[in-house]
Amino acid sequence: MIVYFIGTGGSEGIPAHLCTCPTCNEARKLGFAQRLPSTVAIITENRKAVLFDVGTDIRDFLNVPLEAIFLTHWHHDHIYGLYKLRWMAMETPLYAPAGHADALILREPKNLQPRTIKPFEGIELDTLRITALKLNHQVETLGYLIEENGKRVALIYDTKGLPEETWEFLKAKAPLRLAIVDATYPPGTDDPYHNNVDEAAEIGLEPAERTVLSHISHKNLPFLQLTEYVRKRWGNRVLVAYDGMVFYV
Ligand SMILES: [Zn+2]
Ligand SMILES: [Zn+2]
Ligand SMILES: [Zn+2]
Repeated sequence: MIVYFIGTGGSEGIPAHLCTCPTCNEARKLGFAQRLPSTVAIITENRKAVLFDVGTDIRDFLNVPLEAIFLTHWHHDHIYGLYKLRWMAMETPLYAPAGHADALILREPKNLQPRTIKPFEGIELDTLRITALKLNHQVETLGYLIEENGKRVALIYDTKGLPEETWEFLKAKAPLRLAIVDATYPPGTDDPYHNNVDEAAEIGLEPAERTVLSHISHKNLPFLQLTEYVRKRWGNRVLVAYDGMVFYV
């Protein structure tokens, strides 16, 4: 499968409008340091596409039919793009947790077909098996384990640490090829709903061969400083995601 990172930012995106912090200033100079809100696509071996979160309008990045859309949770930075996408000319299943669902999307889904998915429920789609994982966040939030022919990728955001049952589940599935983990904040920040960079790396390092840090806020270190920190500390076992990054698994 191919993992396509369309958006790797937190809710404000980078640069945040009118913000002059070092991270936002750097992003105005270096295009690769700009980030849209969370959106990831998986392209299967059969070249079918499945979308995980729709933090942005995807039409410039992925203009193909979608087998399904999975939402991690109903926070706005993970669903913005749905308001436009629901007008697409093809009926498409939308799997999402029940908690805090957006009333407009449920009342007027247009061509989306909303279905509730619960922690540890599994869905078979094309060559994929997708299992929902329980995470620790402000509202009901699901991560996803995506499996194709024995290769495994875990999508783990938004979260602070992991509930014990998710931790056990992932360890039993190790080694994962890739863990994509919420790394909203810089090292040293303690937030009740999101990881900092060190906490995120710790989650990925044990079960996964590679960890990709994503959902990065402008409050985090500027891109160049962050990649240097990560490279010095963990070598190539931990990478910093960027918009447009493509990973062959
Ligand atoms: Zn900023
Ligand atoms: Zn959230
Ligand atoms: Zn978020």
